Amino acid sequence: KLVAKPSTTRFPATLSGPSSPPPASKSLNDRVAVLRADITTLAVDAIVNAANRSLLGGGGVDGAIHRAAGPQLVQECRTLRGCETGSSKITSAYRLPCKKVIHTVGPVYDMLDPEKSERLLEGCYKSSLQLAVENGCRTIAFSGISTGVYGYPSEEAAPIAIATVRKFLEEDKEEKIKLVVFVTFEQKDVDAYNTYLPMFFPSV
Ligand code: ADP
Repeated sequence: KLVAKPSTTRFPATLSGPSSPPPASKSLNDRVAVLRADITTLAVDAIVNAANRSLLGGGGVDGAIHRAAGPQLVQECRTLRGCETGSSKITSAYRLPCKKVIHTVGPVYDMLDPEKSERLLEGCYKSSLQLAVENGCRTIAFSGISTGVYGYPSEEAAPIAIATVRKFLEEDKEEKIKLVVFVTFEQKDVDAYNTYLPMFFPSV
């Protein structure tokens, strides 16, 4: 079953039931949060936009971010000359309350090749976190990459997002990233994060 795969391969203990020892430490738990909000209102160091390959704006969260940031954002985006699927680029945030916008290009969900979609989605989260660190951003809020128009099922995307973030935080020994916020908007994503976050970041 697809949804179980990232957890069974990477964190077998999390799926073996409530009696198994919690695999994540309290200090790791304190570095993640889920928040149902309009991402354009968050005063974190960086917000992550679910962009398209042109980086020139679009619908959904991308449109909301460009509207709130003002026209200077698309001007800077034009200088970037697009972005590959699974990769990310960073800009200033202009009128937004955050400091930086990380534009990541999620995959259009391909039900004939879910493993490729998974690899690309993982790349979005990993490259965004890397860019955040390189730019001194310590608090970062992710929108649900690919779970809107790009059709990635929320219950498959959430464990990939969460597993990728957990791996990154475990390797980030110096705690360059202080807080990762998973921003949910629609009920289906709220439900998916409520299901999967406790599996990867159990409270101790
Ligand atoms: P994609 O094309 O990558 O699927 P979308 O913008 O269509 O991008 O959707 C990505 C996610 O962003 C979806 O989960 C959607 O519910 C969410 N979303 C849409 N508007 C906002 C907003 N203002 N703030 C936070 N999340 C949003």
